Amino acid sequence: MTVTTQPGTELDRTRFFIDGHWVEPRGTDTHVAVEAATEVPLGTAALGTAADIDAAVRAARRALDEGTWGRTTTTERAAVMRRFADALAARAEATSTLVSRENGMPIGLSNAFNGAAPAGLLQMYADLIEALPLESVRPSPSGSTVVRREPVGVVGAITPWNYPQVLAMMKVAPALAAGCTVVLKPSPETALDGYVLGDAAIEAGLPPGVLNIVMAGREAGAALVSHPLVDKIAFTGSTAAGRLIGAECGRLIRRCTLELGGKSAAVVLDDADLDTFVAGLGDASFQNNGQTCTVQSRILAPRSCYDEIVDAVAGFARSMTVGDPLDPAVTCGPMASQAQLDRVLGYIDLGRNSAARLVCGGGRPAGLDRGWFVEPTVFADVDNAERIAQEEIFGPVITITPYDGDDEAVRLANDTEYGLGGSVWTTDEERGLTVARRVRTGTIGVNYYLQDLGAPFGGMKASGIGRELGPEALDNYLEFKSIYASSAQLAR
Ligand code: NAD
Repeated sequence: MTVTTQPGTELDRTRFFIDGHWVEPRGTDTHVAVEAATEVPLGTAALGTAADIDAAVRAARRALDEGTWGRTTTTERAAVMRRFADALAARAEATSTLVSRENGMPIGLSNAFNGAAPAGLLQMYADLIEALPLESVRPSPSGSTVVRREPVGVVGAITPWNYPQVLAMMKVAPALAAGCTVVLKPSPETALDGYVLGDAAIEAGLPPGVLNIVMAGREAGAALVSHPLVDKIAFTGSTAAGRLIGAECGRLIRRCTLELGGKSAAVVLDDADLDTFVAGLGDASFQNNGQTCTVQSRILAPRSCYDEIVDAVAGFARSMTVGDPLDPAVTCGPMASQAQLDRVLGYIDLGRNSAARLVCGGGRPAGLDRGWFVEPTVFADVDNAERIAQEEIFGPVITITPYDGDDEAVRLANDTEYGLGGSVWTTDEERGLTVARRVRTGTIGVNYYLQDLGAPFGGMKASGIGRELGPEALDNYLEFKSIYASSAQLAR
């Protein structure tokens, strides 16, 4: 087949990583990746069809059933994973730069989450699996029972565009450690950086079929979810897609973890230190230009110091530097796509037409006509029932809602269908922990919010099912099996 490419784009990648090789697509669909800050084409990626997914799943199945990966010792698997980590680390700078160009992520953040974190996760799960006994023997009425942890099987991993490398590795690393084989389907918007994982896997000597990568859109994603030879789906993306995927996995009795959307609250208590709060706002509420599932885009402010908090948040938003995400001085890059820009501007219009008060921002920044930029925007006096306070905007748009007393703050924080991130700001850490314990959410910070890759991460309510990260995530990729043996000897 012939894939149409943009002239002069050395980043074009038109084959898929299947069974240890770069193979030609079965179909002819392509996606032109466009640099978010300039709207200039970056490269063309082939997009897979159900037939490409089928080839990738069959390769993963063969590697699981006939290959050695699931039966190697954990020490051998860990050694391959460490080589994979080294190969990714060697590419870290190029990878994080590419992601920033694709999706607008400020380069410092991209260095951490797309450059360093994937290699770090491979190292972490290599260490964890080596330390985990996969078999134990316990006495039973008939003699002994051998309790084993076995790989769950072939994993279909589906990822979004906002943190493409780390979100992929949050699935791939524990899956590989557990002895599973994987078909990864990255999002079209960040297809180009997805190929880096294939290059690194080849360099590391990952056995054929253990990791397969097909860049594709929703339909091919749905084909992966329902493929009869897949055992588990690990999905990160919108709640709307998660509902469809969860329903299909339920029908098939297929294991699945769902990491979905959020609308998290930053609860500022009446004793908060405003300097600490403002210093944490970038990570807590504006991280990745607001294109982060955990952003605390609803700020709950006590009436006793409401005006000071509104001024502080607006001051922070005005002080942000909007521009090219590759410039280390920039704190707010562009939206990842035209569609994402339109979505965010649509929500800003909703806010302007509501009873809320626009305090700063409210449109596209002057002088940045090319690139999908949005001004950091703050609405105050927002009723928590308003759509801008209830729906995930996924851009640098903040709402501020007043409250009276900690009980009302907790009630408002929980007055959402989501439960993913959150934060509490106070000079009394014990009081902060008490409030944090009452918020129905998967992660929450006290005077600080930054994801801890060593602790379980995920959502309550419509933010998802299951947890990734931390040692706990290994359980997503392991099945228990009990073998009833008659020999009492085993019980030693
Ligand atoms: P999306 O749901 O549109 O797409 C995510 C991925 O799923 C893409 O690869 C897409 O091709 C695929 N997909 C979409 N519909 C599918 C279907 N029916 N079957 C199979 N695959 C399908 O999400 P997006 O716009 O790419 O990402 C933004 C969303 O992701 C936000 O809602 C954000 O909150 C969420 N997110 C959640 C987390 C988390 O850890 N909870 C992390 C990052 C992003």
